[in-house]
Amino acid sequence: MQNLEGKIVLITGASSGIGQSCAIKFAELNANLIITARRKDRIENLADVLFKRNKIKVLPVKLDVRNFEDVKKFYETLPSEWKKIDILVNNAGLARGFDKFYDGKIEDWNEMIDTNIKGLLYVSKVVVPQMVERETGHIINIGSTAGHEPYPMGNVYVATKFAVKALSQSFRLDVLEKGIKVTSIDPGMVQTEFSKVRFRGDEDRASKVYDGLQPLTPDDVADAVIFAATRPKHVNINQIILTPLAQA
Ligand code: NDP
Repeated sequence: MQNLEGKIVLITGASSGIGQSCAIKFAELNANLIITARRKDRIENLADVLFKRNKIKVLPVKLDVRNFEDVKKFYETLPSEWKKIDILVNNAGLARGFDKFYDGKIEDWNEMIDTNIKGLLYVSKVVVPQMVERETGHIINIGSTAGHEPYPMGNVYVATKFAVKALSQSFRLDVLEKGIKVTSIDPGMVQTEFSKVRFRGDEDRASKVYDGLQPLTPDDVADAVIFAATRPKHVNINQIILTPLAQA
């Protein structure tokens, strides 16, 4: 596997699930990491573990991707040696609610749109200009199979992931002449805290989501991210769709 020593990787939503697995796998390839999320204790603990285990540099930064001023300040206040981010993994995201659209809650809609669409845009807006200037870089967006095919009561979450797919395709057209790669990694069901968050802590309801199939693990998805991130310079992996074997 390619060694990413000297590369800087920024991962949003690294405090659990897919983002955390990506951090662990990038650390194994000796990349230096900026790991962000709102739960500071979690990313600080992860940073400690990865620093000790892999002898890499890790910068944990508390960041809520929904607030553009915070995102801007996050980038502006990075120490200069951390500003040249080579790989951006736009992973922070969530679903809220599981209702017919006419029963949906406005605050759930806003939270999903603000995190999954606007958050991805905000982070990309502050990080990508230095990639454009340096004519190198890789943006990896975590989409979903929900961005390809709606499912009942997925409505607004589905719409946000259709938007992520649209943005990945659009980003690529905007930056391909600048030597920047853009990839969308689109998983089906992955066993993470995602369903617990969706059902606001209702563990019973969350675990029923996986009835009848063996879900993907966060590592399965992180493996796809790493595959995309380690192709030769002239190869862009546009999209990877991966699902549990038994998911229709
Ligand atoms: P988790 O709930 O385990 O992880 C979500 C991560 O996003 C957490 O680290 C969380 O950190 C972070 N996050 C949420 N809101 C914000 C915010 N406002 N600002 C910053 N970070 C935020 O779920 P997954 O690992 O499953 O989710 C990761 C991505 O994968 C999401 O984009 C999701 O849509 C996508 N996905 C998940 C699937 C699944 O079945 N699990 C299937 C397809 C796609 P914190 O709360 O500490 O801020």
